[in-house]
Amino acid sequence: MQIALPENVTAILDLFKTSGFKAYAVGGAVRDVLLGLDPQEWDLATSASLEQITALFPESRLIGEKYAVVRVLQGETEIDIASMRIDGCYSDHRRPDQVELTDRIEEDLARRDFTINGMAYSAEGGLIDPFDGQRDIKAHMLRAIGKSEDRFSEDPLRILRALRFSGQLGFDIALETFTSMQKTVFLLERISMDRRREEFDKLLTSKNAGKALRMCVSVGSMPFLLGEAYPPSGERAEANFSLLLQKIDLSSRDLRVRRTMLFYCVEKQKAISAAKILGIDSESRKNLERDLSLLRELMLASDRYEIKAILSSCDREGVMETVKLFQEYQIVFAGENSSTISRSKLLSEIAESGDPLFLEELALNGQDLLNEGFPQGKEVGELLDGLLKLVHKDPGMNERAKLLKTIKQTKPDRSERISLRERISGIAKNRRT
Ligand code: ATP
Ligand code: MG
Repeated sequence: MQIALPENVTAILDLFKTSGFKAYAVGGAVRDVLLGLDPQEWDLATSASLEQITALFPESRLIGEKYAVVRVLQGETEIDIASMRIDGCYSDHRRPDQVELTDRIEEDLARRDFTINGMAYSAEGGLIDPFDGQRDIKAHMLRAIGKSEDRFSEDPLRILRALRFSGQLGFDIALETFTSMQKTVFLLERISMDRRREEFDKLLTSKNAGKALRMCVSVGSMPFLLGEAYPPSGERAEANFSLLLQKIDLSSRDLRVRRTMLFYCVEKQKAISAAKILGIDSESRKNLERDLSLLRELMLASDRYEIKAILSSCDREGVMETVKLFQEYQIVFAGENSSTISRSKLLSEIAESGDPLFLEELALNGQDLLNEGFPQGKEVGELLDGLLKLVHKDPGMNERAKLLKTIKQTKPDRSERISLRERISGIAKNRRT
């Protein structure tokens, strides 16, 4: 079989060969080419040692302290080059205790995780596929190389890699591989949260995230990702979670959206602490908390005025984002629930109408009230809030003269100001638009 390698990859392979070394394209890129995908990064394996590689590529950068991989950047393409090696035992379930260099590609391929990732290619040797990765690519199957239980015990991150590949490629997991994942899943505890999250983020944003999440559940990995937030408790949460598993693929493949959908299924406080334990950065956690609150408030809002009041805490851009977020929510969780669908429509309608939503859009500001003789203080803010509610009910009222008239109907002495506040909110309550 001939594979058309990118020119820069061929040039590097040729340089190794003319320098007397063996060199191959390996792993994910070979897999992706066979799948008809365009690899974003290339891994090369060579019989050259690290010193020999860096002598040939002085501009390369060493990445990954332990494994001695160097990266050569060719335009946009990342090309990672490593010496072919045989891994020793993994007594810490993370890294081999020692590695031994080899010049036999088959030995290097044997340390790799799945048959579809265990192929190598060079122009002279063609495709080297000792574990029948091609068969598994055709069958859409993930299968561990070697004795699967040992392979997952050596490095339990492979469990999450399998789940993530099933999401990205839509592949099934071979029965023996799957059973071994179930048996060794408890070892995920030993993997750092950052590494778990990196894989989980890729899984969540993958094309077949629903399938991958269902496998996460059946393999028993969820508690190692969500901690105490899993399983969702209570009838509503359980129902939402099962909708999520069926429908998450319909939502945008955006990490913020997908995380919000996932965490919506669990109690908010548990979700926030799970997000923290998972090591989600503070900015994203703030967004998550806000998105979860907005969705909950919007679901509880009883009419368009309450929806407007909720939106008044955003800005215009935030409103558009909220509309989109609610649409994602509706797609995943509404099912046949027509009230959620009509709520989503109402939300878009409010956003598109251009009706005033925020204090900044009120035709009257704090200074106007001060000019009317209201003393500086929190009552000015309360009055403006009251006027905003009034305008939410009747956008036609959002004219300076009309709002001034409303507040001028009373004198600015203290008791009357209170009655004015009450009156404005009374008008807001009774007005029908
Ligand atoms: P991606 O598309 O995410 O880059 P990939 O398969 O290329 O997927 P990498 O992390 O780039 O994944 O690793 C490159 C190759 O190294 C893999 O294809 C596999 O052969 C091998 N590999 C990576 N991680 C492991 C691991 N934990 N155990 C065994 N082999 C691994
Ligand atoms: Mg890769």
